[in-house]
Amino acid sequence: MHKNWINGQWTGTDNIQHNRNPSDLKDIVGDYVRATADEVDGAIGAAHAAWPDWSLSTPQQRFDVLDFVGTELLARKAELGELLAREEGKTRPEAIAEVGRAGQIFKFFAGEALRLTGDAVASVRPGVQVEVTREPIGVVGIITPWNFPIAIPAWKIAPALAYGNCVVFKPADLVPGSAWALAEILSRSGLPAGVFNLVMGRGSVVGHALVTDPRVNAITFTGSVGTGQGILQQAAQHQKKVQLELGGKNPLVILNDSDLETALDCAIQGAFYSTGQRCTASSRLIVERGIYDRFTDALAQRTAALRVGHALDADTQIGPVADASQLQQNLDYIAIGNDEGATLLCGGQTLECRTPGHYFSPAVFADATNNMRISREEIFGPVASVIRADDYDHALALANDTEFGLSSGICTTSLQRATHFKRAIQAGMVMVNVPTAGVDYHVPFGGRKGSSYGPREQGRYAQEFFTVVKTAYTKA
Ligand code: NAD
Repeated sequence: MHKNWINGQWTGTDNIQHNRNPSDLKDIVGDYVRATADEVDGAIGAAHAAWPDWSLSTPQQRFDVLDFVGTELLARKAELGELLAREEGKTRPEAIAEVGRAGQIFKFFAGEALRLTGDAVASVRPGVQVEVTREPIGVVGIITPWNFPIAIPAWKIAPALAYGNCVVFKPADLVPGSAWALAEILSRSGLPAGVFNLVMGRGSVVGHALVTDPRVNAITFTGSVGTGQGILQQAAQHQKKVQLELGGKNPLVILNDSDLETALDCAIQGAFYSTGQRCTASSRLIVERGIYDRFTDALAQRTAALRVGHALDADTQIGPVADASQLQQNLDYIAIGNDEGATLLCGGQTLECRTPGHYFSPAVFADATNNMRISREEIFGPVASVIRADDYDHALALANDTEFGLSSGICTTSLQRATHFKRAIQAGMVMVNVPTAGVDYHVPFGGRKGSSYGPREQGRYAQEFFTVVKTAYTKA
């Protein structure tokens, strides 16, 4: 049984969650304890008590902790990648890459702990010196979704600790295994008791307790729009600092002058890999009229040939859907797309594989319009709408006609169009001839409009959220 890590102790009751493998429903990955509201209260209290000392820890102490975690994640990425693939369903190579990325993130923020700087400014008053410094915020509540069970926790926990905050971390109920493995490494990293705490369990109990407790100074959340908006409203009552990373309906524009192979690679990678369960997935393929038929035919052929199967099988390209409710949501959107008059060219069905699991064939809807629900709402599965555009200007207008603004992309060989698109697209991230999903770990990540709220995550920009600024005036 895997317990919670609270105030330097493994604790928990017998309220457990079976972590089930979506590739093989007979396979139980492990049993994980769900925290009670009292236990969350204890974790917050421990973090609150640990903070005064930890906030004064040296950059070297923080570097050593984060470097230790990063080194171990990188050394164990094959083993932890297998665990991640078993609990979430992404393929083994995708899962190993995710653990590797988590390791690199910890290494990056180990260095950032040493690099935090401030400003020394001449005062407008004679004899006075002004210093602007960054200080930790206090206790940070971290709430994460199921689709990146170790990378998203890493890119929140590592900067929180690097800048001297204490952490209470609540992973998604569906995938506690990778989170627990990360917490286990952190438990041996040399952190004082209470600085880092793991509380697994339900959003309505554990997440709610974090958001409403006045001792938690900031909440960083990644997940769905509805949950995020609710958290923002509750946290505002306590004047907490809030960072939200929410959904996407990311456009990939394909122009007549694009290289067809590049466009197909970007579309397949962006729309279907990780089973389409990425906030940065290319769910809207906006294709210029002159290349529409060629692109759509080739896309349907390639999509139908993708091998869906057990996440750990060597030849699997697309793993199962993460759970039964997400599978049902995918099926519901296939019915919605059909009713709306889009043409289903391939996929959209449940599949039988060698083990009982949530298997679903990647789907391409042609003749979609940007007003259909399948083009406006986040499906969070391997389902792509292909939308016709008259020309570049029309494609750009369609791409921006969405309530979201996370990632975006264009396939073109025109430097002029690429340059214009990079400036005109209303999104936090923009890709030229590379997929909308798949980002570097050392630069900012985040969106605009309905996709995000608050400062960016990752890279050195992470300090905006995880620190507060102090201005000091000194007269000698
Ligand atoms: P979700 O909103 O259902 O859950 C996210 C987390 O919030 C979970 O840990 C959950 O237990 C917790 N939670 C639920 N109710 C809560 C409450 N009332 N108070 C506090 N916490 C609560 O999201 P999900 O289904 O786990 O993840 C899928 C969603 O995440 C998709 O919409 C996807 O786009 C989004 N996502 C966004 C990004 C990004 O960076 N923009 C990255 C990955 C996933």
